[in-house]
Amino acid sequence: MAQQTTGLPVDDEGYVIDTADTEERESAYRERGEALPITVVGNPVLHKECADVTEFGPELAKLVDDMFASQRAAEGVGLAANQVGVGLKVFVYDCQDDQGVRHVGVVCNPKLRDLPAELRTLDDSNEGCLSVPGAYAATPRTEYAEVTGQDEHGNAIKVRGTGYFARCLQHETDHLYGYLYLDRLSKRDRKDALKQMAEGTPRYATVPND
Ligand SMILES: [Zn+2]
Repeated sequence: MAQQTTGLPVDDEGYVIDTADTEERESAYRERGEALPITVVGNPVLHKECADVTEFGPELAKLVDDMFASQRAAEGVGLAANQVGVGLKVFVYDCQDDQGVRHVGVVCNPKLRDLPAELRTLDDSNEGCLSVPGAYAATPRTEYAEVTGQDEHGNAIKVRGTGYFARCLQHETDHLYGYLYLDRLSKRDRKDALKQMAEGTPRYATVPND
C-alpha cells in the first residue's frame, strides 16, 4: 500500500482505497459545504460535455464540498458537477458495491476503461437519477467498471467497482459527457420515465427549467 502525497492511499494494483474512513471523510466534505439545488432533465448544462478540470485549487475544493452536501441533502449515491449547474468534469460518490461495502470519493476528468469481453457482463437493474426525480427504469450496465482520472488534488487515480457502485461510476461519467441514463433507454421507456417524473414532486430543491 503506497501513500500518495495527498489524497487516498492506493492498493498493490494502483487502485485508490476509497473504502476506509468513509463516514469521517464524507462528513468532513459535507459539513464544509452548502447544499445546492439540483438541475433536472432539459437544463442545457446536463446535455453537453463538461469542460476538463485544469485547476486543482480552492475553488474546486469548495465545489467538491458543496457537491457532497448536495448529494446528502438529496439522498443520492453519486453526483456530477453539472447536476449543481457547474459544467466541469468532476463527480463525487458515496455508494455501496455488490458486497455492501461503502465507497466514498471524488473523480475529475474520468474516463471509463474499455473492458475485455470477459468483464463485460451486463446487469439490467433499475436505475434512477437525481436529475430525473421520482423515475426509475431498468438500464443495462456492466457489473464491473473502472475509471481513470484525477482526484481533487490533481493526483492521477484509478477507481474500480462492482454491482451498484460499478453502475454509479458509469452513470456519473455519462453525466459529464452530457448523457443521462434516459439517453440509454428505448423511446418507450424514456417516455415512461418522464411520465413518472411529471407525476411526482421532488423531495429536494431543484432548479426550475425555463
Ligand atoms: Zn444522475
